[in-house]
Amino acid sequence: MDTAVTVKDVTQVYVTEERATLAVEQIDFAIQRGEFVSLIGPSGCGKTTLLSIIAGLIRPTVGTVTVAGGIVNGPSTRVGYMLQQDYLFPWRTIEDNACMGLEITEALTKEKKQGVLHLLDEMGLLGFKDYYPAQLSGGMRQRVALVRTLATEPELLLLDEPFSALDYQTKLQLEDLVVETLRAKKKTALLVTHDISEAIAMSDRIIVLDPNPGRIRKEFIIPQEIRSSVPFAARELPDFHVLFRLIWQEFGGVHHE
Ligand code: ADP
Ligand code: MG
Repeated sequence: MDTAVTVKDVTQVYVTEERATLAVEQIDFAIQRGEFVSLIGPSGCGKTTLLSIIAGLIRPTVGTVTVAGGIVNGPSTRVGYMLQQDYLFPWRTIEDNACMGLEITEALTKEKKQGVLHLLDEMGLLGFKDYYPAQLSGGMRQRVALVRTLATEPELLLLDEPFSALDYQTKLQLEDLVVETLRAKKKTALLVTHDISEAIAMSDRIIVLDPNPGRIRKEFIIPQEIRSSVPFAARELPDFHVLFRLIWQEFGGVHHE
């Protein structure tokens, strides 16, 4: 397997007028092509900071990030970013929102538009293409955001707690849809979440971050049986509960030190 992402010795210090915050310190990890990795850790441990650095939105204070062999110097179409909020434009239709990424990178050809319609179809949204975001449920809006992210055909998908604003049922359905879609398209993904179950159900590997400053605490490789299931079914497997307890203890350790 070849490497899709390398994060090397990354440290981020935020400097404001009042203070300097060491957000993450000496982060080192790599993601293989096609791998699904989750970063978990408590609020404020630097998860969003790391994703912003990998997306090229923040230049790290120290260290380098490489995506598909090239050093990250700024935002690029090689990386797609999906957030907790969908950031759909309320005055644009679903189809026009889904085409947004292609439009701003001036890549919207007739063929690509056809691709977007196909993705909307895959996500069960084709019948809603002429609707406006306010007419859709939260889960549907996140599916539109996923289509918009996939439309530019990024090699790497960064997912920053994309399900945390959704109700539990919708979240479970979307987990399955995302995993099935990314597996079928052989995409590399890095998911940030504070939900241990979600991380186990969706990933090939979990990286646990320690807070203040964010550092890598431990890595867990997800057993094959869980990986080859869709997230909903994975939650039923005996290994799932064993792993949940192990990671839960790891978090417990953080709180009691
Ligand atoms: P997480 O996503 O894990 O909740 P963040 O990456 O958002 O964590 O934040 C990590 C730390 O960096 C926190 O202490 C936060 O207050 C601080 N931080 C994040 N963004 C900024 C910023 N733009 N300026 C100053 N401090 C920041
Ligand atoms: Mg965050």
